[in-house]
Amino acid sequence: ALTAGIVGLPNVGKSTLFNAITKAGAEMANYPFATIDPNVGMVEVPDPRLARIDEIIPAKKIVHTTFEFTDIAGIVKGASKGEGLGNKFLENIRQVDAIVHVVRAFDDENITHVANKVDPLEDIQTINLELVLADLDSVNKRYARVEKVARTKDKDAVAEFEVLKKIKPALEAEQPVRSLEFNEDEQKIVKGLFLLTSKPVLYVANIAEEDMADPESSKYYQQIKEFAENEGSQALAVCARTEEEIAEMDDDEKQEFLEMEGVEESGLDRLIRASYKLLGLATFFTAGGKETRAWTFKQGMKAPQVAGVIHSDFERGFIRAETVSFADLDKYGSMQAVKEAGRLRLEGKAYEVQDGDIIEFRFNV
Ligand code: GDP
Repeated sequence: ALTAGIVGLPNVGKSTLFNAITKAGAEMANYPFATIDPNVGMVEVPDPRLARIDEIIPAKKIVHTTFEFTDIAGIVKGASKGEGLGNKFLENIRQVDAIVHVVRAFDDENITHVANKVDPLEDIQTINLELVLADLDSVNKRYARVEKVARTKDKDAVAEFEVLKKIKPALEAEQPVRSLEFNEDEQKIVKGLFLLTSKPVLYVANIAEEDMADPESSKYYQQIKEFAENEGSQALAVCARTEEEIAEMDDDEKQEFLEMEGVEESGLDRLIRASYKLLGLATFFTAGGKETRAWTFKQGMKAPQVAGVIHSDFERGFIRAETVSFADLDKYGSMQAVKEAGRLRLEGKAYEVQDGDIIEFRFNV
């Protein structure tokens, strides 16, 4: 499964946020063994469409799709030079598909800041610099070797060398690889380099409780947001401490609390949704029978591959996908009406599944 890794300097609220995630995960009715690895927290992806589908095609139960966060431990500062724990930090980041970078955006004299002052931009730079240096190291190692082969006019080497020539100066200027633009062929090469700074990042400002009702008023959040936008990334404001409290509430309490705070959705739910998007994930549904269920697929996947998300037999014996979009089911209000309107589609092997599709797969056993 694709996973987002949580990173940040010490004392910024990472563990608090990760606790909120594991507590929320522990509440999941359908996943009694929500956490297998203590560093992995599994949460449900909130999706109001499930309830609506279940209203139209009632089933015994509703099953949400899930998402995994990984808590990335290790020493940050000096990691790119370091041995042991520092290396472990970089290795762990290499394993994840996206980075959730938690930044301290609250003042609290009782909580020590590692650099003795709250300065979100400096904090971000500290971590990003380690990742940039680690990437520069990998790129430099490759550079000389590929340059040599490229001189023999080997086509792949020439193409890769062009990409390395673009990346190297950027890293030397402390720019992450994700801020560069690549065409499709170059993107494939970049992917093969497994660079840390080419992974998508979501900056999470851990704001003070007082700022929750109006995060935009936090100067720290504004700084983080501006920084994120400049490199083409996204930022989000949450209050980790409050999220930890919310994660322990039941649904009614949670609803009441959020209304009192004047917010529609918990920070954790926004974080889950944003991370899901960051990874290019989308949702399809199965309905009727035992359960109404949401499943995760990667945008761009074709129908047989998507069938394989449910079971490998579905992919192997794929015949067709009987598909209706959520928008159509919602609009017509019953499967019968959907069919009469000619909105039930029989999709074949080449069909690229869309977010919100409700599918019944036909397959040979
Ligand atoms: P980590 O080292 O990044 O994992 O940070 P922790 O999650 O352990 O948090 C460090 C300290 O900051 C703890 O005492 C937390 O209770 C506190 N903390 C975390 N989030 C908040 C917050 O939103 N507001 C305030 N005032 N304190 C927080």
